[in-house]
Amino acid sequence: MRAVRLESIGSMAIHMVEKPNAGPGEVVVRVLAAGICGSDRHMYKGEYPTAIPVTLGHEFCGLVEEVGEGVSSFVGGELVTVDPNIACGTCPACRRGRPNLCANLKAIGVTRDGGFAEYVAVPCGQAFTLPSDLDPVHGAFCEPLACCIHAIDRAKIRPGESVAILGGGVIGLLMVQLARLAGADQIILITRQLSRREAALRLGATQAIDPTATDVVAAVRDLTDGGVDVVIECAGVPETLQTGVQMVRRGGAFILFGVTPAGLAVPVLPFDLLVNEVDIRPAYLNPFTHSRAAAMVASGILELDSLVTKAIGLEEVAEVVGGVPLPGEIKVIVRP
Ligand code: NAP
Repeated sequence: MRAVRLESIGSMAIHMVEKPNAGPGEVVVRVLAAGICGSDRHMYKGEYPTAIPVTLGHEFCGLVEEVGEGVSSFVGGELVTVDPNIACGTCPACRRGRPNLCANLKAIGVTRDGGFAEYVAVPCGQAFTLPSDLDPVHGAFCEPLACCIHAIDRAKIRPGESVAILGGGVIGLLMVQLARLAGADQIILITRQLSRREAALRLGATQAIDPTATDVVAAVRDLTDGGVDVVIECAGVPETLQTGVQMVRRGGAFILFGVTPAGLAVPVLPFDLLVNEVDIRPAYLNPFTHSRAAAMVASGILELDSLVTKAIGLEEVAEVVGGVPLPGEIKVIVRP
């Protein structure tokens, strides 16, 4: 079968490899749609730890093709979404109910072969059934959505609150929709590209700001009477970390979601964080949220089609992951 492999930092290519078999407790999924994520680009550049060589692709949806020994939850033919993050269940973090902080975390498409391939073998407990008539492209959104749901849980948005979201990629545009569903009264999306600001306004943002055209901290403070209740940082760049913590109201929450390169330091002003009691809450991965994401996607409550800006075959994956995002690009979907 064909698979797109990360061979070393900065080197990715399509290869013919053995089709995987379903081991005990596993299912083999025929991949119908897989999303390219900002994290894939981080892995390609060596900014996020991964096993090498490995087939990337951790946001995917497909049909159960083969069922391994001891699997009773699938018979074959089901449309499934896969939670890529495999916690050990026995380390101190897992035993405290924090599987996303598992000391032995493995991840499909990161530390074991993933979905930029025709087939992928996964532990059956990672697969969640979707309605058979669901568009598999929508199914590919379950993984990023599950991470966003965890961030929204951490944000504890209450009806009537104000939320600022920095970064208008697919994550920021999913957060806009989730903040609206959580009852936020004011949702401010901050991103540089006009097309994304327009998309955010269509998806439920009440205001959209270009951070290059104005003093964004002053603008948000003006719009929110001194500061926003919740900031969700979804860009992962030093500038948005620095401006984001400054636009939180006194006693408000800053949700750290964007991935900055490992080892990168960002200066902050601890005095300001202290006297304003800015509540900094990182949100990492998708603990216990994948089934909720699958249910939301299945319900059709989210607008996903307009987030897909390109569909490609496996042959083009290396070029897209290794390149810079094109202007206007939101989500690229791979159809193996
Ligand atoms: P993305 O497509 O790269 O979107 C991030 C966007 O932020 C950029 O495209 C850019 O859009 C915007 N941006 C960059 N600099 C900015 C600035 N100075 N001010 C405002 N906006 C700026 O990535 P994504 O897929 O949406 O993911 C967002 C982040 O979440 C990534 O870092 C990803 O790795 C991370 N992530 C985290 C988790 C988790 O569990 N915590 C899970 C999934 C993804 P413009 O060009 O419009 O400014």
